[in-house]
Parts: sequence; C-alpha cells; structure tokens
Amino acid sequence: MTDTLFSKIINREIPADIVYEDDLCLAFRDVNPQAPVHILVIPKQAITKIADAEQSDQSLLGHLLLKAAEIAKEQGVGDAFRLVVNNGTGAGQTVFHLHVHILGGREFSWPPG
Ligand code: AMP
Repeated sequence: MTDTLFSKIINREIPADIVYEDDLCLAFRDVNPQAPVHILVIPKQAITKIADAEQSDQSLLGHLLLKAAEIAKEQGVGDAFRLVVNNGTGAGQTVFHLHVHILGGREFSWPPG
C-alpha cells in the first residue's frame, strides 16, 4: 500500500501526541478529537482497511483491540468508551491505514451517525 500520514507518524516524519507504543502498534491522540479522550491505535504493519486484513493478521488484530481496551482504562474513561473502525469512504474512513478509534469521556448515543 502507499504511504499515508500514519506511516509518517510511525516513522516520526510528522509529529503526534503518542500515548503508547510497542513492536506491533502505536497509539496517539486524534488531531480533531470527537470526545474528551480520542486516541487512534494503529498497527505498524500497514493494512489499508479492516476488510483487507487476512487470516495471518488475526493475532495483530487481537493485539490492537486488547491494547485499545488497556489504553482506554489508562486514560480513565471507566467502562463507558467506544471503539470504532471505519471501513471505506462511505463509512467515513479518511486515512487508509487501519486504525481503531478509542472515544471516551462523554455520553454516547446509538445508532451512531
Ligand atoms: P477515519 O476518518 O476513521 O479514517 O479517521 C482518521 C482520523 O485521523 C480522523 O479522526 C482525523 O482527525 C485523524 N487524523 C488525521 N490526521 C491526523 C494527524 N496528523 N494526527 C492525528 N490524527 C489525525
């Protein structure tokens, strides 16, 4: 896949407010937060979108979700937080490097817009 601005964040070519990093993933604050806590968790291995993930990505995808829950807890949002993965332009995806949004610190309604 082509480089996105998220690969530039991984490579420290553009700045980000990084809250967590390990060998497999990076988490940083969303530049346009939609909630008091809004963090993106991305795999270092570039996957364009969740629909393009493969069976071999299974443990990486599990890692992203487990880390997202850990980070939400560390950020003090309690039990009320939302994880969002937008897939494709029609669903609101604007950066084509898979990312899990962690949103917390406010009330959420359902269905989402
Ligand atoms: P999505 O619309 O699901 O693809 O989410 C992309 C997210 O990336 C949006 O919430 C943007 O606000 C966020 N974003 C775009 N550029 C940056 C950046 N340089 N640093 C942090 N977050 C960004």
